[in-house]
Amino acid sequence: MKMTPTKNNPRYANGNLRRKHRARLRAMGCECGICHGRFGPIHYDEPSDAAHPLSFVVDEIKPVAKWKQFGYPSARAAAEDWNNLQAAHYFCNAQKRDKIVNFSLDFGQKMTKIPSVSDGSW
Ligand SMILES: [Zn+2]
Repeated sequence: MKMTPTKNNPRYANGNLRRKHRARLRAMGCECGICHGRFGPIHYDEPSDAAHPLSFVVDEIKPVAKWKQFGYPSARAAAEDWNNLQAAHYFCNAQKRDKIVNFSLDFGQKMTKIPSVSDGSW
């Protein structure tokens, strides 16, 4: 008999669960978990891209890249933990990614412009 190689792809399964979490967050319609609504409600109906800074993305509260530090058995476990996920603005999520350390709740008040990325001196 013939095998269908795409059926058992773990990345596909992973995406499936993440899609479910995403749909659940969208259905809840919460405010942004990062700025707590300071930038207004999340625009759930817009595509998630840089052209729509208030669009909806799934934010990992504890950064998946630091899964070991937070006691997860794997990066995937951190990404799939429902309790580690919250709805966020595309914009806020992008800022947070750059400032994983010491990210503070009052960030929404301090944010006056989009900071430029600096590579520092070589
Ligand atoms: Zn926000």
